[in-house]
Amino acid sequence: MRTIGFSHGVLYRVADVYSEQIIDLYRGCSDAALETCVSKADDADKLQRIIPYVRDFSYKSVHLPSDIRYVKDEKTIRLLDKIVNYYKEVGASLALVHPDVVDDWEVFDRYKINWAIENMDNRKGRFKTAGELEEFLGKNPNWRLVLDLNHCFTNDRSMALAESILHNLKDKIAEVHLSGYINLHDPLFASKQDFIIDYCRKLDTPIIIESTFDSIDDVKKEYNYIIEKLK
Ligand SMILES: [Zn+2]
Repeated sequence: MRTIGFSHGVLYRVADVYSEQIIDLYRGCSDAALETCVSKADDADKLQRIIPYVRDFSYKSVHLPSDIRYVKDEKTIRLLDKIVNYYKEVGASLALVHPDVVDDWEVFDRYKINWAIENMDNRKGRFKTAGELEEFLGKNPNWRLVLDLNHCFTNDRSMALAESILHNLKDKIAEVHLSGYINLHDPLFASKQDFIIDYCRKLDTPIIIESTFDSIDDVKKEYNYIIEKLK
């Protein structure tokens, strides 16, 4: 069975995603994987309270906030300390950061954990193409890649970009982000973009679902839709 689960932030519009009840809801679909998505740096203080709810998932990862610039300063280090502490407490396997918000990569070197960048969507200027990602990962051999299929699609509707990232960087990919694209990160049961789901078959890494929802019931609906298509 494929390791698959949710980003814990997918219900942010309708619920407190740092509550035990919501994390239990994700576990009710799949206890195989959970990505803790710290969307704002100020939310890092909420991590402590969810440690006991998250520990028992089989695969865990952490998505770092994108509302700060990562530089070698006190503020960044205080945030990374909190996140790395959480990573260790829950037994996570991967921590990922959006590369466009990093000004100084050295600030990450003080922590010996598994770091990853993610390919960016069409709203960003860099880190979108296979070449740009390959250049970074060549210079930073300890870093891994999270392949976001939705981001690939926003840059290239033919999915040739996803194909070239897969071809050039397959052994660097540690995780896949999966969601449909209508406006941003939308449910696949609504967008019916099954060709995006199909790309997950080309890898055996964990899949993290990043479709966002307006109803709690849609979590199970999305999970069942994806599982059915992956069969
Ligand atoms: Zn993503």
